[in-house]
Amino acid sequence: MADKLLTVDQLLVLLDKYKHRELHVHHTWKPNHSNFKGSNYQAIQDGMRNFHVNERKFNDIAQHVTLFPDGMFLTGRAFNVNPASISNHNHGLPFCMEMIGDFDKGKDKFEGKQKEAALKLAKYFNNRDRYIRFHRENAAKTCPGTSIDKDEFMKEVKAFGTKPKPTPVKEESVRILTGGLSPAMVEEVSAFFKQKGWWAQVQFTNDGENPRALTGGLKGKAKSEFETWLKERKWYYEVKK
Ligand SMILES: [Zn+2]
Repeated sequence: MADKLLTVDQLLVLLDKYKHRELHVHHTWKPNHSNFKGSNYQAIQDGMRNFHVNERKFNDIAQHVTLFPDGMFLTGRAFNVNPASISNHNHGLPFCMEMIGDFDKGKDKFEGKQKEAALKLAKYFNNRDRYIRFHRENAAKTCPGTSIDKDEFMKEVKAFGTKPKPTPVKEESVRILTGGLSPAMVEEVSAFFKQKGWWAQVQFTNDGENPRALTGGLKGKAKSEFETWLKERKWYYEVKK
């Protein structure tokens, strides 16, 4: 298949059509972050493919996908063909990801969109109980780089996307009691409440003079809206808890 540039979400949709046994994680070491100029995905991929085919005599580029520093994936080897990934672990269709970068300590930083995409892809495998294998687990190499601790990586994979939403601050609702109202003021406040669809009651005193209006529970925007309305009219009011 022709190389395709994919977001992680697009990649996950494609992966649903296969059943890759496990995920293999590599860094390219070379090329590294300094070689990526923001759009030269295919040129970098072609460089790796030429090296793999012409020098290493593979049939095709070794990996199924290359993950770029901006979090985009470029597809490589056909997804239904075993990769040239990790010796003795290439059978039974593992999925091989090469991350552009040299993630040995002190070199490129594994961070941002690239890290997010890697975690999301790894989570896809982890959610399906499929193993996530770092190259160095089965080779005398540091791949995917000494700055990436496997335990830490797996912790982040498990936590990925599950951050609890901050609990909204509970707003107390209050009732607002006006001062004594003339018949015209009663009409005005009634019209306002009708228009808002808010509930209120008008309280009369024994002599029936100057009734006061008491709102139902108001909070946030409604509370400040009514307070503004009252202040504009310079009407007295009390806020009741
Ligand atoms: Zn490797």
